[in-house]
Amino acid sequence: MYEKRLEELEFISRAVGLRSDYVQGGGGNTSVKLDEKLMAVKASGFLLKGVTRQEGFVVVDYRKIKDYYQQVDLDSDRDFEKESAEFAKNSVVEMPGLKTLRPSVEAGFHSFLKTHVIHTHPVYANILCCSVEGRELARSILESRGYSWVWVPYINPGFCLTLKIKQETEACLKSSGSFPRLVLMENHGLIVTEDGAEKCVAMHEEVNRLIAEQLKVTEAFPEPRLEKLDEETYISRTPYLKERMRDGAAAEYFKNVLYPDQLVYLGEGISFDGGGGKVSVDTKTGEVKYKAGFQEALTMEEIMLAVLYITEGVKKAGLTLKAMTGEDIDFIKNWESEAYRKSLVKQMGK
Ligand SMILES: [Zn+2]
Repeated sequence: MYEKRLEELEFISRAVGLRSDYVQGGGGNTSVKLDEKLMAVKASGFLLKGVTRQEGFVVVDYRKIKDYYQQVDLDSDRDFEKESAEFAKNSVVEMPGLKTLRPSVEAGFHSFLKTHVIHTHPVYANILCCSVEGRELARSILESRGYSWVWVPYINPGFCLTLKIKQETEACLKSSGSFPRLVLMENHGLIVTEDGAEKCVAMHEEVNRLIAEQLKVTEAFPEPRLEKLDEETYISRTPYLKERMRDGAAAEYFKNVLYPDQLVYLGEGISFDGGGGKVSVDTKTGEVKYKAGFQEALTMEEIMLAVLYITEGVKKAGLTLKAMTGEDIDFIKNWESEAYRKSLVKQMGK
């Protein structure tokens, strides 16, 4: 019935999901509005590249979610985080032949954007999103080309972020007369929204290329390569990573948390020269080993590469790194939905 729209969901999901410079591990999500009421959105715990017209998504009544955020009364003393997540879950519409899954924790903001939505954690846009000067630079890069966009300062993911995006997009529409096609989220990533699948993918591509060009980021993002040592151990065969880890100060790269997924998937799991972390680094040889199944090991490698690439990009562009604060980090550590997402990714690897 919604065949064409679901094909579009598969198209936009794979277009960005197959690239680890755009999404790492289970990060990022996509959605397509099917009609005036229903929206297909990536399910929690699925990889973006695993979203097809048959699986990896759920259908929700997005009008209900929209209404919820429209009517929310912040003066009332309630657990909005829990309530909004429950609400998204309860807005799931069962579809014949489709497994009922849990919608992405970020389903909320998809509800009030355009027909097609792509949200990623791209290493190019994230050079801006993880630097103090990012907002002003984004302004000069995007506005001279007539893009309608908004910047969202770092805010806890989930309810708060959703509400903030709603407020910012509405304010942009009011002041400029056009609905923003781009949302840059500090210490998080990018949202692109359009009416049209091809247009949405093209815009996502274009904006990342433009940022890389303007910041003179020319080095290609490294392709993660893993070799299996035994059932539970993988070793990295990525020269880019090895070169950087062959350094007594390698730990410095990871002392900052740049975006929530770094914490969710890597946590405090990296140990340098001994210790029992999930990721062990030998700074004499540059060898990186993962004590995990394939999917988890790949996710950790992708995140490490992204953190390195963004950190270097910020430095090379002469910018100042902006990391998450201790308070931001504590929120994520105690966030139930993220833990759920993490456990699902682990299961997928088995
Ligand atoms: Zn995200």
